Amino acid sequence: MSMPNFTYVRPGSLREVFPHLAAGDARIHAGGTDLLGCLRDKVLTAEKVVSISRLEELGRIERLTNGSVRIGALATVATLENHELLRKSYPALAQAASEVASPQLRNQGTIGGNLCQKPRCWYYRGEFHCTRKGGTRCFALAGENEYHCILGGRGCYIVHPSDIAPALAALGASLEIAGAGGTRRIPVEKLFVLPEQAITKETTLEPGEVLTAVLLPPAEPGWHSSYRKVRARGSWDFALAGVALALLLQGGKVAQARIVLAAAAPVPWRCSEAEKVLTGQSLDDETIARAAAAAMQGARPLRDNGYKVELFKGLVEEELAAYRRN
Ligand SMILES: Cc1cc2nc3c(=O)[nH]c(=O)nc-3n(C[C@H](O)[C@H](O)[C@H](O)COP(=O)(O)OP(=O)(O)OC[C@H]3O[C@@H](n4cnc5c(N)ncnc54)[C@H](O)[C@@H]3O)c2cc1C
Repeated sequence: MSMPNFTYVRPGSLREVFPHLAAGDARIHAGGTDLLGCLRDKVLTAEKVVSISRLEELGRIERLTNGSVRIGALATVATLENHELLRKSYPALAQAASEVASPQLRNQGTIGGNLCQKPRCWYYRGEFHCTRKGGTRCFALAGENEYHCILGGRGCYIVHPSDIAPALAALGASLEIAGAGGTRRIPVEKLFVLPEQAITKETTLEPGEVLTAVLLPPAEPGWHSSYRKVRARGSWDFALAGVALALLLQGGKVAQARIVLAAAAPVPWRCSEAEKVLTGQSLDDETIARAAAAAMQGARPLRDNGYKVELFKGLVEEELAAYRRN
């Protein structure tokens, strides 16, 4: 397929970005690794492509005076992977970043673009007028669905494609979003929407809004985190299954837990029941097995993806068991 024609602008300040976004069918361009493919494959349209790459202030990672860490939306995935503070204090994020795509894509792709990327369902990305494109049929339901969701699907069965989003949700991150009318802040989980809420949207961003930063809460003593990804092949690939964990361990017990699954659902999937099972308990075999089973509560596999239920259970079990050494 060929690239459609569009106007390309590269404003020098955030203030100048908003009028461009307000004018017609405009799209934000950060690293372009997802956007350009979507335009070429006609998944998205654009009359104007608005590059935010000149906004240097969006590329910074800094520790704020209250101890939280602010990551500008243009920070590249490779920067997150290699950042000393993130590797030490927020390992789930650095590990998730290291699992994204290939080195070339990590050098070019940004954290903002990673959170706002479009899903990878082959029907959605292909020439099918599916429910996510405003059609009346989900082709994955009766089609090839081994990589689709087992939780949270209704009318559309995509999985959320990001490795970074589940890690941020486990870490309790929030997002700074700017629009022409001002700035708002939301927990990262509130960025994503299920098909039953809005089948043609993946995020709660309003037209004309820009994701400007990710904010990590101060790293408190006793918290540990990790991200583990399983993929179908050894080289770069999107997740078949992934789990982000953040655990507060005190006196040999789990005082608080956050468990978020990747590639299970159309959004990063928080396992509240499994978190309840763990809270106040030591990580013995029985507790871990009960938590892994609870993580799959409500799972409804499609014809070809029942294997994911056991895969996720095994993944959660293995990852929780690894925390016994802390
Ligand atoms: C071959 C391939 C393999 C990949 N594998 C993985 C993987 O294993 N795991 C994974 O997590 N990801 C994977 N990705 C996705 C990759 O990480 C993303 O493409 C990348 O992070 C997007 O960043 P970008 O800056 O290039 O975004 P762009 O392509 O510039 O933008 C992506 C989308 O986000 C919007 N957007 C960008 N920045 C903002 C902003 N600040 N505010 C509001 N909207 C914005 C754009 O309008 C566009 O719709 C893969 C991509 C490719 C092409």
